Amino acid sequence: MSTPLTTHLTITQASCADDYDPNSMPVAKARAFIHTFLSPVSGVARVALRSALGRVLAEDVISPVNVPGHRNSAMDGWAMRFEDLSANDTTLTEVGSSFAGQPFTGKIGKGECVRIFTGGVVPEGADTVVMQERAARNDKNDGKAVTFPGGQKRGQNVREAGEDLRAGAIALAKGRIVRPAELGLIASLGIGEVSVYRPLRVAFFSTGDELVQIGNPLAAGQIYDSNRYTLHGMLTRLGCEVIDMGVVRDDPAILEQAFKDASDIADVVITSGGVSVGEADFVKQLMDKLGEVVFWKIAMKPGRPLAYGKIGRAHFFGLPGNPVSVMVTFYQFVRDALLTLQGVSPLPVQPLLKAICTSPIKKAPGRTEFQRGVLYLEDGVFKVRVTGEQGSGILKSMSDANCFIMLHDDVGNVDAGATVEVQVLEGVL
Ligand code: AMP
Ligand code: MG
Repeated sequence: MSTPLTTHLTITQASCADDYDPNSMPVAKARAFIHTFLSPVSGVARVALRSALGRVLAEDVISPVNVPGHRNSAMDGWAMRFEDLSANDTTLTEVGSSFAGQPFTGKIGKGECVRIFTGGVVPEGADTVVMQERAARNDKNDGKAVTFPGGQKRGQNVREAGEDLRAGAIALAKGRIVRPAELGLIASLGIGEVSVYRPLRVAFFSTGDELVQIGNPLAAGQIYDSNRYTLHGMLTRLGCEVIDMGVVRDDPAILEQAFKDASDIADVVITSGGVSVGEADFVKQLMDKLGEVVFWKIAMKPGRPLAYGKIGRAHFFGLPGNPVSVMVTFYQFVRDALLTLQGVSPLPVQPLLKAICTSPIKKAPGRTEFQRGVLYLEDGVFKVRVTGEQGSGILKSMSDANCFIMLHDDVGNVDAGATVEVQVLEGVL
């Protein structure tokens, strides 16, 4: 087992203390390493409830009231004292009505019942509600006689005050992402403002002399910069404040300035390209000067090269240049890190499914592969097929995919018909 890492160590000390091979770093280990250096941003803002959608709670939300506030009926029917019902038919006299928002103000006495509707306050003295489908009104007593069959249970169809939430209890804990359900829950407590963490500021740029901004013609050997668009999309979906710094040439002086500018204004700096063999050396030299960064070759495909560290106070992620590798490394390493920095706790569980793989897949043991797949349901069974060509530059493989087929380190070739694990992307991206 490796030495446990602690945040007392600097990133470079920790990387030396740990017994991993930086040229074959397992995915889980890289993820755990990064995680030890993350803590939520400190800025907090009070916002109006609707503006909290998608943000992260920076304080517990305490219920100021009992929910529900009153004992009320779960059904349309009649309320009565259970002791007045017998084992056989019982006829009681209706003495009034309790509508939601318009309670019966009297007290129920012996032999009496009150017409009640869903959400209506259960009158004083009553402890049981019989649903209307199980009762029969008859002509006797000016139509006020209602007959109930035997077999009722004490307390049935009665929602107790505070059964959802007690006054003073934690309704939502700090670290929860506010989704539509949370908006409604907070509103149900009568709370109109909450404390949320400030959005994370993420600056990013692409590196590479071959890259051209869209809107300009391509010369021989040049390509359009697509990584800044996928990064823009992934970061925006995560609720980050994005700072797009454009394309930066592979020139040490220009790169140095870009890293300095980015780390001055952002909590996190993300780059794509420039960390692969051949290019990493001069980025490494730059990083030795500007911060503390470790360079790994991750035992995964796609997405082998990855750099992580700190430049000044900013966290730095150096992603590979290949467009699919950018997305795969983002989802496997950066996404959870950004959620943690945003204050999210606990981290949402990534949905994993088992599915039957309909295509054979060639795979060498010793690394984790993330093949892009299409998950579908056939005769009630989850099946998955690869999206076609899987090159790390083929962005269509990502666009066509709704899942990653996750092939773990120890797995070799996969036969058609074998069961594989699938990381679902829908609803996560
Ligand atoms: P690198 O990691 O810089 O060696 O780049 C690996 C591959 O990804 C090369 O084929 C690059 O041209 C390509 N690449 C790098 N950055 C980008 C980008 N921003 N958009 C599209 N392709 C890129
Ligand atoms: Mg490059």
